[in-house]
Amino acid sequence: MALRKLFIDMNAFFASVEQQENPRLRGRPVAVIPTDAPTTCCIAASYEAKRYGIRTGTPVWQARRLCPHLILRIADHRRYVTFHHRILDAVETVLPIERVLSIDEMVCPLGTNEREAERAVALALAIKQAIRTRVGPCLTCSIGIAPNTFLAKVAADMKKPDGLTVLTTGDLPEALYRLQLDDLPGIGLRLKLRLHSYGITSVRQLCTASVTTLAAVWRSRKLGLRWYQMLRGIEVEDGQGPRRTLSHSHVLPPPLRNEADAYAVLMRLAHKAAARLRQEGYCTGCVGVSLAFLLSGGARRSTQRWGAACRIPLADDTPAILHAVARLWHSRPPLPTPFYVGIVLSELCPRRCTTPSLFDDDQRAAALSYTLDAVNARCGPHALHFATIHHHRQSAPPRIAFTQIPQFDPHLI
Ligand SMILES: [Mg+2]
Repeated sequence: MALRKLFIDMNAFFASVEQQENPRLRGRPVAVIPTDAPTTCCIAASYEAKRYGIRTGTPVWQARRLCPHLILRIADHRRYVTFHHRILDAVETVLPIERVLSIDEMVCPLGTNEREAERAVALALAIKQAIRTRVGPCLTCSIGIAPNTFLAKVAADMKKPDGLTVLTTGDLPEALYRLQLDDLPGIGLRLKLRLHSYGITSVRQLCTASVTTLAAVWRSRKLGLRWYQMLRGIEVEDGQGPRRTLSHSHVLPPPLRNEADAYAVLMRLAHKAAARLRQEGYCTGCVGVSLAFLLSGGARRSTQRWGAACRIPLADDTPAILHAVARLWHSRPPLPTPFYVGIVLSELCPRRCTTPSLFDDDQRAAALSYTLDAVNARCGPHALHFATIHHHRQSAPPRIAFTQIPQFDPHLI
């Protein structure tokens, strides 16, 4: 089977951008954090910081203990999006991009005369060079080349930083045997335990399992077959159906960790989620709120999470979603220090598949929401807003886009 896909994964992307922008950070342990709070976690670590055992997800108090001279930088979403687009431009000077999978991952198809290993490797080296010269020398990437996207991603993960790995059909499946089950994208802890319960504890066993066994593990004939094919280099549909949920969340900076501010930020997230829902052409049938509270003082504080959801008649207007959020907020536990707020809209249904409400009030609420979007698109994101969020319209700035990258537009981000 020919090599068909080239997968690019930027190394320690956010930390590398920080090092590219600030030469004083180069060669030093740097971690990027979403907000300046002792309860937060690192969302990226430079390779110098990784040597101390700091990873994405390491709590900041622990990171400081592992590396006392660690440099912490607060994430700058706007900057990462700018770099993301510059990287796309650089890659496209060599190969077209088929899909952007996240802010630091993309996949390119290999054309019919690019499918021999030698030619594909030359293209990968040209991409690395284009990123280095057009974006900056701190931006390194790991590239994987394989017969399908899944294996190309696995190959990219095999060597970091600045790796280049080719998996040909001749290498398969033996080249995968040295991996752990959870090295494969899509296998997390739960799935790993389920694989164990079927006697599959190694990638070798996974690769030799029958479709029937895989279907039993994944509890779906379709998914079992899909894994069987992916492991053998067959390109399968990515299974990306229509969107099923839409969510926004925010870790509150210390000054906003009180009920009034937490509520206002939650409302701001609800506005944002409602606007996105309309922009993407969906209605929601279920609104969920999640909160987390700090329970005691000190750097290693214990926390309590809480969440609730309620069904609503299918809607995409801001007032309907705000009402649901307000109702849920009032059923929260009586704890004084919220530090995290989140909203999830689920049971999404494409708007074109819904029947519009016949009630005047609903129609007015919908018309109001679309007017709101039109004014804000023209005059800036907060030109027109509900009074509930007035003091917090700048709170909860766009979070780091791991999987959803806005087009660069200073009005939007
Ligand atoms: Mg990466």
